[in-house]
Amino acid sequence: PVPPPVPRGAPLTGSVVRVGPLAGLEARGVSAWFGDHHVLDSVSLQMRAGEVTALIGPSGCGKSTFLRILNRMHELVPSAALAGEVLLDGKDIYDPDRRLTEARRQIGMVFQKPNPFPAMSIYDNVLAGLKLTGQRKNRQAKDDLVEECLLKAGLWREVRDRLRQPGGALSGGQQQRLCIARSLAIRPRVLLMDEPCSALDPTSTRVIEETIAELVAEVTIVIVTHNMQQAARVSQRCAFFLAEQNTPGYIVEHGPTGAMFTSPRDPRTADYVHGRF
Ligand code: ADP
Ligand code: MG
Repeated sequence: PVPPPVPRGAPLTGSVVRVGPLAGLEARGVSAWFGDHHVLDSVSLQMRAGEVTALIGPSGCGKSTFLRILNRMHELVPSAALAGEVLLDGKDIYDPDRRLTEARRQIGMVFQKPNPFPAMSIYDNVLAGLKLTGQRKNRQAKDDLVEECLLKAGLWREVRDRLRQPGGALSGGQQQRLCIARSLAIRPRVLLMDEPCSALDPTSTRVIEETIAELVAEVTIVIVTHNMQQAARVSQRCAFFLAEQNTPGYIVEHGPTGAMFTSPRDPRTADYVHGRF
């Protein structure tokens, strides 16, 4: 049975983190290698503005690699090579005239394992990304930004009275929401999430899913998940990645999430989404 989607929240308002206007992201013919290991072959996918796109598929088929290509983290690996284009609002983020920091600022990432700076205060964790982008703010502006990001990440109520406590003192689910708040503080236009709930308990997972459903009104989201129920609950579109015996990963099928689950075109998609893989 396919679970009903989490209701999408009303647009969040706030003057400080104005994330919009919404931006779409598009991969065109993306291929990737680590040395001579070919891991992705000609992946094309439109990730529409204001939607959650879920990337699903077995381990090792290149989902995380694809996500890192979308914000120029792939090139941090010395042996990594890449072909194709990634367009943010129609402009190639790999354009040599475009600054690397700009792409990374506009396209934030949240990882599987929550990674706040454990000894740093909750408050400073939210602002940690601003140093990297060289933004300076006065005290009031910082306070406002911290509050707004924590609100949007669904964590404010729980931490408003303990902002000076270390990030490492929070539970796993709270730490993940702190990482979401930290990503939001640099006003990304796209948020990439690589299995953000797979290290979390069911209650925290539900809270993060609700956060995602609200956030997507402001920021385009791409999420990798192994949890098919989660893909059905949070995403509007889905892409099924597969890598068959020693061949690079590619997209078997993509489309509206409902159709992917109820009437997939490819029998391998049906097998995967129904857990027969
Ligand atoms: P997924 O996220 O779908 O599990 P990955 O993108 O992590 O898949 O991995 C795709 C393939 O790329 C795997 O064969 C993996 O071993 C390889 N790979 C991933 N990262 C690196 C790396 N830094 N160096 C070499 N090979 C890598
Ligand atoms: Mg992965």
